[in-house]
Amino acid sequence: MKVLNVMAVALLSLAASGVFAATAEKVEKPNIVVILADDLGYADVGFNGSKDIVTPNLDKLANEGITFSEAYTAHPFCGPSRAALMTGRYPHKIGSQFNLPVRGSFVGVPTEEKFVSKMLQENGYFTGAVGKWHLGEAPEYHPNRRGFDEFYGFLGGGHNYFPEQFKKAYARQVEQGLTNIDHYIMPLEHNGKEVDENEYITDALSREGANFVRKAADTGKPFFLYLAYNAPHVPLQAKQEDMEKFPDIKDKKRKTYAGMVYAMDRGIGEVVDALDATGKLDNTLIVFFSDNGGKLQFGANNHPLREGKGSVFEGGFRTPMVMHWPKQIKAGTQFEHPIKALDLFPTFAGLAGAELEQESKLDGKNIFSFLQSGDAPHKDELIFALRHRGSYSDAAVRRNEWKAVKVGEKSPWKLFNIEQDEAEENDLAEKHPMMLRDMVREMEKWSWDNAQPRWFHIHEEGALWRQHGMPRFDKTFATD
Ligand code: CA
Repeated sequence: MKVLNVMAVALLSLAASGVFAATAEKVEKPNIVVILADDLGYADVGFNGSKDIVTPNLDKLANEGITFSEAYTAHPFCGPSRAALMTGRYPHKIGSQFNLPVRGSFVGVPTEEKFVSKMLQENGYFTGAVGKWHLGEAPEYHPNRRGFDEFYGFLGGGHNYFPEQFKKAYARQVEQGLTNIDHYIMPLEHNGKEVDENEYITDALSREGANFVRKAADTGKPFFLYLAYNAPHVPLQAKQEDMEKFPDIKDKKRKTYAGMVYAMDRGIGEVVDALDATGKLDNTLIVFFSDNGGKLQFGANNHPLREGKGSVFEGGFRTPMVMHWPKQIKAGTQFEHPIKALDLFPTFAGLAGAELEQESKLDGKNIFSFLQSGDAPHKDELIFALRHRGSYSDAAVRRNEWKAVKVGEKSPWKLFNIEQDEAEENDLAEKHPMMLRDMVREMEKWSWDNAQPRWFHIHEEGALWRQHGMPRFDKTFATD
């Protein structure tokens, strides 16, 4: 599978090696646009076979690009997954394995971890974040301090969608003198300054994403856009006209969710149009995926994967994914080997010709040449998911076609052949006890240098952690 322009790659690798500085000057670094959905189901995009929700703009990117059937995020819920995307490290290694405290706090993803945005900024990129942040709200954790020249959005873990609703609710709370105001109704901001936003939030973020592209195109620099939609994360709030696109969906939650996904897809079309109109589309790598799996009780569908958001079964952290880069990525290909969101940091670094000072700590690898060759980037390597509960942890480890899973405090480890059984229905633990034991031992070794959590989402979570002497990995990794 020859999916890349060989000359461009040769020049980029020369640039990366720094051997020919003069040549490197002539290589045009690609623009990079990461579009992240929030809690999007594996089966909820046309290119993954959705029967009821339509996503024409994403499907077009898929038809012209490469889709990934086995793309994994580093955690089955928001905050830790995003921390991993930004730092290139498993959240457990940097104490970021819980969502940030619910309302306002002084903690955030440790500043000694360099964000992918900072790495790109230092390598000549004009950088912008639009949408949901959820990586720390105190000044030192603000997007503008973490490598983003531009930020438009909100700092918390989610937001209500209709300004006519949330602006009134916010005004009421201010009037009541509340100091701890609900994040979901706070005003949006642009580079730290409050703005008066009047559009449905998904439309507003799409507008700002397209605006950033036009602004960036004028700078003459390569650019990096991180467009983090809060859609289709709750609250389930869709525009009437978007819901009306789905007359056949009768379930109210599913219909609303479908409208939210449709609005996001429409916005992605706007951003792609802006790339096209500025002449930047041909040299832009677009990456689309979700931070974690869909939440089944809020209208999402992860078929055929088991469970959803929060779970270490596949539905929790395997996500729909597309990459699009005209002339560089062969149109309409499907990549069926596992890849990780953790691979994006080193892959972008490679494309930007960056030297990585924290390379040894990174948990992914530059997968670009694998996209070219079609080979498996993580053959014989381990891919982990670990979710702490009150007094125990759910854990999963994948190696090649095998996946070992432990879910629940009392239940034993199970083993699945994930290539033949992606729904994780046929436990093969008794048939392959040595294989299972070996994989669990490997995951236990991986856990040895995990960091203690730097924060907890809610007070009770921290209290339980201390009460039970967590993480109690002796219990998690027991196989007898
Ligand atoms: Ca999420």
